[in-house]
Amino acid sequence: MRIGIFGGSFNPVHNGHIHLAKAAAEEFKLDKVYLVPSRISPHRSSDEYVSGLDRLEMLRLAAADDPLLEVSDFELCADRVSYSIYTVEHFRSAHPEDELFLLVGSDMLLSFDSWFRFEDILDEVTLCVVSRNDGDMKLLKKKADELGQYGEVLISESAPVVVSSTEIRKKIAKNKNFACYLDENVVQYIRSKGLYSYRGEAKLLFDPDEKKKFLKARLSAKRYVHSLNVAAECRKLAIKYGEDPDKAYFAGLLHDICKELPDDEQKALVLKSSFTVCREELETRSLWHAIAGAYFIKTEFGVEDIDILNAVRFHTVGRAGMSRLEEIVYLGDLISADRDYKDVDRMRKLSYSSLNAAMLEAFAFSIKSVVKKGGLVPVCTAEGYNFYTRLQIEEKNKVSAKRGLK
Ligand code: ATP
Repeated sequence: MRIGIFGGSFNPVHNGHIHLAKAAAEEFKLDKVYLVPSRISPHRSSDEYVSGLDRLEMLRLAAADDPLLEVSDFELCADRVSYSIYTVEHFRSAHPEDELFLLVGSDMLLSFDSWFRFEDILDEVTLCVVSRNDGDMKLLKKKADELGQYGEVLISESAPVVVSSTEIRKKIAKNKNFACYLDENVVQYIRSKGLYSYRGEAKLLFDPDEKKKFLKARLSAKRYVHSLNVAAECRKLAIKYGEDPDKAYFAGLLHDICKELPDDEQKALVLKSSFTVCREELETRSLWHAIAGAYFIKTEFGVEDIDILNAVRFHTVGRAGMSRLEEIVYLGDLISADRDYKDVDRMRKLSYSSLNAAMLEAFAFSIKSVVKKGGLVPVCTAEGYNFYTRLQIEEKNKVSAKRGLK
């Protein structure tokens, strides 16, 4: 077997670490990579350095999907801060017949000859190096040549993923978005345990002023005004129908957050999301932004409220059995103050008199306009239309039954 050993503080584990482990495993044909979090001196500041158990747990979450990756608590269980040579010796005695590979990032290669007993390390393992920065290949090869007298050093050809734990910790402490650098489950872990002085996003989550700044910088003036109008309309509808007005405002405000992203970026977010997307949606460019938007606010803003996510995700296509909030955002988008299509006033009146009737009218309107343009009707839209039609039929049957009784 070819066994990789990958040590680090992993404080927290990030995409650069996982990239290193996977790239080395693939390129150097490793059968297993052990991720070994190091002990950190307990005297270090606790805001910056979280407990070994937390780092171990985050590693387990990040490695969970890949059978090649395994997490070892060897160094954490040691009774003092460990040197890499001791870890290598531990793996050597556990795997006497196997080939060992020590994985490091390029910064570690450059200082490798200052490591405690580095010659002994190179005697036992092949050193595998993955670059952390563009353009450092020449320097790495030179260093690898120098160390060549002590043992084998391999340099990966893979392109770097430029990120560091320090940078992520700073972002978390400053309330900046950090989700894109980490595994989704690690992000949830940090948020739920409030690690690295995490406090911000929860506060910012429903802070519309913060989100407005974000949208203003990201959307055209027209789309920004539309988003504000939809948010205001959603709040009014929420008050009318007993929904949470702040939640409705928030969902309305963000419903088009990805509308002006380039097509390929929208598509990439759609494909990355784990949402169920029907074929017609995948084939219709103008529908991607809703799915992309829900995924974006989930991963970038940490929105976990499924109702808000669905309200954004289904605001274009709708579906059968929409929640009250989903209906509100769907209709809010259709009747906001900046809308001026022919029947908008009728639609406005209907929206404030009966949600079900307005939804049926909205679905019929949407299907008609798709058909007129020769487009595809998404299955969920057709199902939504049927759902609200059945409600109407049931309603009519009830009324006639009542009349019959009289
Ligand atoms: P910090 O910023 O806290 O120093 P770090 O991001 O450098 O952390 P460590 O846990 O200290 O991460 O690093 C563990 C190992 O992972 C080291 O060998 C390091 O070179 C490597 N490594 C870290 N980040 C990357 C990256 N983006 N690409 C490749 N290797 C990386």
